[in-house]
Amino acid sequence: MSLLPLVFSAPRRGQPPRHLADLSAEQRAEAVAALGEKPLRAKQLSRHYFARLSVDAPTMTDIPQRARAALVTELLPPLLTEVRAVTCDDGAHDGTLLESVVMRYPDRATVCVSSQAGCGMACPFCATGQGGLRRNLSTAEIVEQVRAAAAMVRDGRLGPPGRLSNVVFMGMGEPLANYRRTVDAVRRICDPVPLGFGLSQRSVTVSTVGLAPAIRRLAGEGLAVTLAVSLHAPDDELRDELVPVNTRWKVAEVLEAARDYADRTGRRVSVEYALIRDVNDQPWRADLLGTLLHRALGPLVHVNAIPLNPTPGSRWDASPKQAEQEFVRRVNAAGVPCTVRDTRGREIAAACGQLAAADR
Ligand code: SAH
Repeated sequence: MSLLPLVFSAPRRGQPPRHLADLSAEQRAEAVAALGEKPLRAKQLSRHYFARLSVDAPTMTDIPQRARAALVTELLPPLLTEVRAVTCDDGAHDGTLLESVVMRYPDRATVCVSSQAGCGMACPFCATGQGGLRRNLSTAEIVEQVRAAAAMVRDGRLGPPGRLSNVVFMGMGEPLANYRRTVDAVRRICDPVPLGFGLSQRSVTVSTVGLAPAIRRLAGEGLAVTLAVSLHAPDDELRDELVPVNTRWKVAEVLEAARDYADRTGRRVSVEYALIRDVNDQPWRADLLGTLLHRALGPLVHVNAIPLNPTPGSRWDASPKQAEQEFVRRVNAAGVPCTVRDTRGREIAAACGQLAAADR
């Protein structure tokens, strides 16, 4: 049993500086006016940031030099600096370490972003959870991870030049415990250019440990993003241990909230299930998982089985291939599509559950 407490509210540690990506269209206009600049500058600056993915003042030749310096200083302060680019690895303005991971496939490119520095959800098999919560990230700190990734992909720094196609909130942190900033970041990611990056809502995934009230709230935001629920056990007894927040919101409540989300958005919910040898991979748990999900969500669910990634000090291993295959077969047999997610990045400790922003 994990001895770490659940932490929902982050320590107050001084706000990152205000940034263009924190602001709505109206707020951008106000901020520009407050600097004594023409309203049109808000749109120009937004275009540089969200369309050209640039924060580089000298290239902003459509803005007079005098105005440029002030606008960039005030509205595009550096928030993240690259500490180490293993794939992509960032530090914030106050030295807080966070990680994001870019995955380049032949036909798409996905960035896995952090919503918090650390995490307060204390899941014992996850390196981030074991490190505790340091602080919430600001909206712009989340958005900056996306901009940096999109620029890398565009510039061909990770293979052939391409376009960032997907964003998953599966890095460090519990996005729904940093609710407002996460939702605002999703808006910036999906709003049309130049208000935002213009990605489609369906190509964004928000993953949660199962904060049921926040899932319901998200369903009412008018955002049809994909919801992923990290379930990892179909029964409360085991889930209480693997996902300690289950002591607040039980499996049944989480699945009801997920159903509500699926009904209101029309989106199929992803259920994440890390397969842990002799812990949650038994045939009876596969059957129970399939039955419960089929009953709660009908056709509106898909299970991603994830082979457990090793984390420092953990006593758990991934399930053997045979147990994994049998598990997947049984879930499918219950009428619930289930696939094994290919795990990448293990060799650089960048796979699911391994982000600890520590020295390697
Ligand atoms: N807090 C959110 C967002 C993090 S997503 C959430 O839990 O959904 C990270 C995903 O990786 C989650 O599904 C998490 O349960 C899973 N994970 C954590 N540790 C893991 C590990 N050691 N091996 C495989 N998956 C892991």
